[in-house]
Amino acid sequence: MQKITEVKSRLIYDSRGSKTIELDVITDNKYMGRVSVPSGASIGRNEAINFPNGEPEKCLKLLNNNINKFLGLDPADLKCIHNTIRNVDKTDNYSNIGGAVAFAITIASMESASRFFGVPLFKLLTDESKLEFPIPLGNILGGGLHAGNGTPDIQEILVCPHGAKSIREAIEINFKVHNELRNILQKRNINFTGGKSDEGGWAPEIGNEEALEASCQACESSGYKLGKDISLGIDIAASTQWDQKSEKYRYKNNKRFNQEEQIKFVSDLINRYKLTYVEDAVHQDAFGAMSELTNEFPNVLIAGDDLTVTNTMFLEKAINLKSCNATILKVNQAGSLYDALKFAKHAKKHNIKIITSHRSGETIDSQIVHIGICTGSKMLKIGVVGGERISKINELIRISEYDLIHGMTQL
Ligand code: PEP
Ligand code: MG
Repeated sequence: MQKITEVKSRLIYDSRGSKTIELDVITDNKYMGRVSVPSGASIGRNEAINFPNGEPEKCLKLLNNNINKFLGLDPADLKCIHNTIRNVDKTDNYSNIGGAVAFAITIASMESASRFFGVPLFKLLTDESKLEFPIPLGNILGGGLHAGNGTPDIQEILVCPHGAKSIREAIEINFKVHNELRNILQKRNINFTGGKSDEGGWAPEIGNEEALEASCQACESSGYKLGKDISLGIDIAASTQWDQKSEKYRYKNNKRFNQEEQIKFVSDLINRYKLTYVEDAVHQDAFGAMSELTNEFPNVLIAGDDLTVTNTMFLEKAINLKSCNATILKVNQAGSLYDALKFAKHAKKHNIKIITSHRSGETIDSQIVHIGICTGSKMLKIGVVGGERISKINELIRISEYDLIHGMTQL
């Protein structure tokens, strides 16, 4: 049987220049899986703790004290790798060794096994023979915690190229609209510098609605018909606006919304801009308010991110309350890949659409593309431009050489 013969670790840096960790898992002295760990800026309260006390060095120290426990294990036995890390950290949220270590060791082991078997990672992670490409969402405009002062409160405006006939066409549509939006923003304000948000979308000084209007204009002047070839989606990341003390959402220009007004605000945006995707429309504890939107808009993907935090327990709550019809899957919200795949299975069983997502602080790794495919994700959030985003987009192109279903599916 193939065995893990070495685990090496180091401190490296992510796309924000923050410290993160990288792990090499080596099988039979030859086959290396290398994984580094992303980080969020808008972090759900119930996520696994990536680096307890913000100290990646301590996580590495703890891992190194326990490294012998992984030697000799089968790298393809995800459950066994997961149980081994679980025996080191028995907390619910990896607040001891860090979710980052659980993330890296589980994915790097599987990557190492995929090298040993000579198969791509996505094939090793599923028995499903009929695999489809998720639709890559292009982040064209950023705000909130992903961009600077003066940018929209809405964290992300996303292009969904659902009419594309191939993965390459979908990617090129995203680039085209992103480019066109820059021209529009520049015409609107000659002082626009072309500054970008964390995920590559433009970060102009602009209001929420103006940003959506400019985005619609960019879609149409790129030659696409909104609602036919492409559509727009948003991640409001509403927990970042929610003020628990006043029980209000706080927006630019001193606007304040209570829960009811927030639902009206989001409903108006959906109707006015024909949105097909809305993520975290309300704050992370507002399961009831989310269900109002899900009920009102059955043809829009109403997705939980901070609400469901890639955690089966919170997803179960959302399913019971009919809070969402879609969910973000971010492996490091769960911690280990094993937990994240269990979450995906549960979502699929209950017909909750999955959107596998990067984090705002990323590395040049591209395993999430494989995870998006093996989980049968409907869509993929992997940004638009910038090295750490392009690495994932280009991995989609490489995977298109395999026998996957090339046609994009309608939402
Ligand atoms: C998100 O909120 O969907 C996101 C990708 O941002 P972050 O990584 O900052 O949580
Ligand atoms: Mg989000």
